[in-house]
Amino acid sequence: MGRKVLVLAEVREGTLRHVSLEAIAAGKTIAEDGETVAVLVGKDVSGLKEELFHYGADRIVLIENEKLASYSSDGYSQAFLAAVDAESPNAIVFGHTALGKDLAPKIASKLNIGLISDATAVEYAGEHIVFTRPIYSGKAFEKKIATDSPIFATIRPNNITALQKDESKTGDVKTLAVDIKDLRTIIKEVVRKTSEGVDLTEAKIIIAGGRGVKSAEGFKPLQELADVLGGAIGASRGACDADYCDYSLQIGQTGKVVTPDLYIACGISGAIQHLAGMSNSKVIVAINKDPEANIFNVADYGIVGDLFEVVPLLTEEFKKL
Ligand code: FAD
Repeated sequence: MGRKVLVLAEVREGTLRHVSLEAIAAGKTIAEDGETVAVLVGKDVSGLKEELFHYGADRIVLIENEKLASYSSDGYSQAFLAAVDAESPNAIVFGHTALGKDLAPKIASKLNIGLISDATAVEYAGEHIVFTRPIYSGKAFEKKIATDSPIFATIRPNNITALQKDESKTGDVKTLAVDIKDLRTIIKEVVRKTSEGVDLTEAKIIIAGGRGVKSAEGFKPLQELADVLGGAIGASRGACDADYCDYSLQIGQTGKVVTPDLYIACGISGAIQHLAGMSNSKVIVAINKDPEANIFNVADYGIVGDLFEVVPLLTEEFKKL
C-alpha cells in the first residue's frame, strides 16, 4: 500500500541538517511504493532542493517567506500546517532535533493526533509500521505501532541511514504561498556560544572529556585529536560543572543525546546519567586511569591509562593515516 509521507527539511545556517536526509530514508520505508515529499521551509532556501532530490525526495513543497528567516514555532507551524492541508499526508516525519522537539508536539496537537518521538528505527511488521524508541534513559527499547492517521514520528539523528546520493534524481517542486500571521516572537539576532566545529548531535565522531581533564586547558589534547579525526568535542556534566567547558557540550540525561559512529570518552567515570546520552554510540572507546570505572562496562575498547599520555599518542597515530 502506497502512502504519502511529508518530511520536514530542516535548514540551519543555509545548509540542510543531515537528519532531514535520514528522515527522507525513514519516509521511504513508511511510504512503500507511495511518495515522500520534502517540505522545505525558510527564506532563500530553494537552492537546497537538488540535495533533497538527490537523497530520495520524490517531490518538494517549498514555502518561502521573509517571516520564516529564523525558526519560530508560530511561523513554522503555520507553514507546515499549510503543507499538511495542501497534501493530506498519511504520515509525517521530523528529525528529533531541538527544532523538531519544539515543533512536532505543536503540530500533533493542532492535528489532534499522537506523536511517536525519538525513534531509532522504522520497519514493517505485517501490516503495521513499527517504530523503535529508547525508554528509561536508554536502558530499554520499546516498539510502537502508530494507529492514528496521519502517523507522526520524530527520528533520532544518526540512527537511520540516509539513502545513497543519486545526482540524477530530480522531481517536481510545488511552491506554496503561505500568509504567515501574528508572529508572537521575532528573532532579531542569534548569538552562538560555540560558533565553530561539527554539530554535536550530528557528529560521526565525538571526543568527550570529563572531570579527568582537570581544567579548561586539559581539553586541548582532546581538541587536537578531534581536529585530526574531524570530530566534535563533548563533555560530561562533571566537566561542565567544574567550568572546564560550556554546558552546550554536555552529553547525558540532562544534556544532549548523541549516537556517533565513534565516541571516545576521556576521564569520564560513566555515571548512569552520562550513559543515558551516549550508550547508543556505535563504537565506544574509554580512556580512564581507574580500571574499575563504570565507563568500561559499556566500552567496546578500554584503555587504562592517563589521558594526557594516551590522547596525544592516538593523535600522532591518526595523523599517520
Ligand atoms: P567523575 O565521576 O569525577 O569521573 C572522573 C573520571 O576521570 C574518574 O573515573 C577518574 O578515574 C578519571 N580520571 C581522572 N584523571 C584522569 C586522567 N588523568 N586520565 C584518565 N582518567 C582520569 N552527568 C553527565 O555527564 N550528563 C548528564 O546529563 C547528567 N545529568 C545528571 C542529572 C541528574 C539529575 C544528576 C543527579 C546527575 C547528572 N549528571 C550528569 C552527573 C553524573 O551523575 C556524574 O556526576 C557526572 O557524569 C560525572 O562526571 P565525570 O565522569 O566527568 O566525573
